[in-house]
Amino acid sequence: MRNITVVGVGYVGLVTGACLADFGNKVICVDNDPKKIELLQGGTIPFYESGLKEMVRINTSKGRLEFSLDLPSGVGESEVIYLAIGTPPRPDGGVDLRDFLQAVEEISPLIDSYKVIVDKSTVPVGTAHRVKKILEGKINKGIEFDVVSNPEFLREGSAIGDFMRPNRVVVGAESERAFEIMADIYRPLYLLETPIIRTNWETAELIKYASNAFLATKISFINEMANLCERVGADVQVVARGIGLDGRIGTKFLHAGPGFGGSCFPKDTMALASIAKEAGMEAKVVQATIEVNLQQRRGMVERVRRALGEIKGKQIAILGLAFKPNTDDIRNSPSIYLIEELLKLGARIKAYDPMAMENARMILDGAEFTPDLYSACQGADLAVIMTEWNELRELDMGRIRKLLRKPILLDAKNIYNPREMRKLGFTYYSIGRG
Ligand code: NAD
Repeated sequence: MRNITVVGVGYVGLVTGACLADFGNKVICVDNDPKKIELLQGGTIPFYESGLKEMVRINTSKGRLEFSLDLPSGVGESEVIYLAIGTPPRPDGGVDLRDFLQAVEEISPLIDSYKVIVDKSTVPVGTAHRVKKILEGKINKGIEFDVVSNPEFLREGSAIGDFMRPNRVVVGAESERAFEIMADIYRPLYLLETPIIRTNWETAELIKYASNAFLATKISFINEMANLCERVGADVQVVARGIGLDGRIGTKFLHAGPGFGGSCFPKDTMALASIAKEAGMEAKVVQATIEVNLQQRRGMVERVRRALGEIKGKQIAILGLAFKPNTDDIRNSPSIYLIEELLKLGARIKAYDPMAMENARMILDGAEFTPDLYSACQGADLAVIMTEWNELRELDMGRIRKLLRKPILLDAKNIYNPREMRKLGFTYYSIGRG
């Protein structure tokens, strides 16, 4: 059992804090957002993540997990300090490290005994080195500390399972003492034989970006193939299966769609391109992945235009707002992008999502949100499926057909069978299937 403080209680920080407490550690989660901490102290989770509320409840009731605004006592009481601060993109594609480095500055004068500073945020190569330099400048000589890079690979929507049963844990450190402390924290994973990759800071930092960029590349690749399929009369789903069954390729992340989104892939691919540029080279594959993705997003507007002819004045039902199912996260969601573009072109939008409508309401001006998916379709000229929620996989198509003013369906997630949809009387469009 160790005393751990997690600084930054967003998606990653809260899941990390709750899971580390569940491992048996005593965890204090500190954020500088008073509203967030007040909600968490009252037992409310500020975002939707399956199983998280219960895990937080159990661990707080057992006295292993608490939430606080008080950074000094968090740092004072803990040997290990995790940093899970947001690292958003800068307009030039680089990484905005201001909040992250600000937290390091705030922590440094509070360190009065040996501590391990663990970087969980996704940060450019060289950041652990920068953190060490900042700490060295502020901590009294003679007090030892270690900096560890321990990037996080959890996926929103399955975050707890991913944290508790990871494919691997990556630990970049300089000292044996730090490696041992980290190995001890992740000891509960030994039973699952989880590989722990021990390496240096730079390698650990790059593994995170390379991992996300590789997954994003698979998506852009299959989207490019989907567009080619449409031109040559092939079916991208069969192509994906045909290539994916080759064990060297694998079936995952080969689903054609409206382009990748979310808080990680777009920003991490841009960051990797920028890291490469600063290192004096061009990351051409990564650049192409980003460009194909932007093209795919923009292409969604063209697909709507093809389905409708004129967009101005048309009523469009958008089913799904979150960037993927099982989350309420709409950061960089292709659905939000599409809605904004369609509104600019004079469309009227009625949108529905099982979880993400509250978040969408805060940033989207001019769209109407409906309490259920069928109301969104009422009187619409077109329905567009943008997120593959289970609820949207089981639509009562007969009912939808009657509700739509014209039975046109654009299925950007390739959930439905084109032949069946056409048999039901829909003019059905999907991605890369003829
Ligand atoms: P987030 O925006 O949800 O949370 C960041 C939190 O940090 C916020 O609660 C904010 O109030 C807090 N914060 C900012 N400055 C602070 C300070 N000085 N002191 C205390 N708290 C402060 O971000 P997130 O999605 O949890 O991402 C965190 C990091 O993890 C990012 O680097 C991200 O790239 C990475 N990551 C995210 C995911 C994901 O799926 N969201 C997955 C893996 C890695």
